[in-house]
Amino acid sequence: MNLILLGPPGAGKGTQARLIEETHGLVQLSTGDMLRSLVASGSPLGQQAKEIMGAGRLMPDELMVTMIAERIVEPDCANGFILDGFPRTVAQAEALDRMLADKGLKLDCVIEMACDDEALVERITGRFACAKCGAGYHDRFKQTKVAGVCDVCGSLEFVRRADDTAETVRTRLQQYHQMTAPILPYYAERGMLKKVDGMASIDEVTSQIDARLAAAKGA
Ligand code: ADP
Ligand code: ZN
Repeated sequence: MNLILLGPPGAGKGTQARLIEETHGLVQLSTGDMLRSLVASGSPLGQQAKEIMGAGRLMPDELMVTMIAERIVEPDCANGFILDGFPRTVAQAEALDRMLADKGLKLDCVIEMACDDEALVERITGRFACAKCGAGYHDRFKQTKVAGVCDVCGSLEFVRRADDTAETVRTRLQQYHQMTAPILPYYAERGMLKKVDGMASIDEVTSQIDARLAAAKGA
């Protein structure tokens, strides 16, 4: 089963993708994480990505599609994948459809995580992740069980993303509404769009997603 989690920054895509990975045996493909590790690798392509992201621009569609295309043919994706952070524009959604069709693959379900903009600022400015395993936490909504220790791997080191500030959140939200939200009708017209309430608790959102996936499987 191949699905997309679609929603504004901070909607909970990463949080839910990690949970779905475990329960449904799918692989999370976060294009943001993929790009950040590409930059960290220092390769020529990483250098190019760094310049584009540093200038606050979107990556070229072609680069993004190639990155995904190379990743989904790896053996761990055989059971299916969860796209988180991609596509971000209608052009990318169209390019994704073409690329999947070329490989004889298709999307099964697109889950919209609907949220109020005001809630997102607090979610994004409060989030942090384990430096070692990437598990996500929040100052208020999802604290570690033992202060300063990762629940999953026991690491004592955590990181915050440089772009998770109140100022950049506004710009990222604007960009979401302008560039990414038009993807919603694109998938709705194709009968693939399922909506969940991203304002609900993490557990409640998980069970809403499970119900949508069960319905999509049955269909
Ligand atoms: P995205 O991947 O969509 O940008 P994240 O999964 O990183 O969003 O979630 C943003 C922050 O909000 C994280 O710190 C996460 O722990 C927290 N969070 C995620 N879902 C919820 C929720 N339903 N209620 C409260 N906080 C949440
Ligand atoms: Zn960890």
